[in-house]
Amino acid sequence: SYNIDGKTAIVTGAASGIGRATAERLAAEGANVAVVDIDIEGGEETVARIEDDEGVARFIETDVSDEADVERMVKATVDEFGSLELAHNNAGIEGESATTAEHTKANWDRVVDTNMKGVWLCMKHEIPAMLEGDGEGAIVNTSSISGQTGAGDAPYVATKHGILGLTRTAAVEYAQEGIRVNAVAPGVIDTPVSNRFREENPEEFEQFVQMAPVGRMGEPMEIGNAVAWLLSEEASFATGGLFQIDGGFMAL
Ligand code: NAD
Repeated sequence: SYNIDGKTAIVTGAASGIGRATAERLAAEGANVAVVDIDIEGGEETVARIEDDEGVARFIETDVSDEADVERMVKATVDEFGSLELAHNNAGIEGESATTAEHTKANWDRVVDTNMKGVWLCMKHEIPAMLEGDGEGAIVNTSSISGQTGAGDAPYVATKHGILGLTRTAAVEYAQEGIRVNAVAPGVIDTPVSNRFREENPEEFEQFVQMAPVGRMGEPMEIGNAVAWLLSEEASFATGGLFQIDGGFMAL
């Protein structure tokens, strides 16, 4: 079985999209979920949806690019639920539509601080909390098909490649201590981020969606289900891996 009943999970970017789906799936499997986001309204809505379904969740307002905030968030999670075993480090933003030569440093810093430094800061504080418990832990970081291609804006693409490096390094370092670390690489998923892109460039967006052999967007829960499996004991031999969930996009 999944065997995550009663475990504690942190999900970042859980006010929306993929993070909300994972939070709901983990709660449905019996985990206590820390719903982490900068978006208070969306975060509270995720908690309400989980509670309506008889699950257990708390919203913890956090900016993942701010170390003091991340440290406080991990401590608040352990204080609330008594331990930490699972984490989906998923919060991420796109950069401005610009080429490599056009990007401003402010945009670069904003995207890199949120997407890549954010994942590192979360692991930096989650891993010691996992080791303090019974020494078992599982982490999934959200990369992208942009983590293996040049599809997207430069800072976004760079951070999604970088997340693979962070994932593999931590997987190697902590394998002997019982912590597994994997990455998921979603294709185009139907969330507010892709909807913004669709509104700005409807034709380009449709072409991009059609590049995936399945010829459709993915649903957030199609990622949430995979993350729940990777965080569960059924995935006990999976670590340092990159899991494509992209409707065949990278198979082309
Ligand atoms: P989304 O915008 O629906 O959700 C992202 C969440 O992250 C939002 O709730 C936002 O408030 C939160 N967030 C942003 N900055 C934050 C910060 N500094 N601290 C805490 N929370 C913050 O987007 P989504 O599509 O669900 O994306 C989730 C992840 O999946 C991202 O890392 C994204 O890059 C990745 N991804 C998405 C797609 C896609 O097609 N939607 C494809 C590949 C990868």
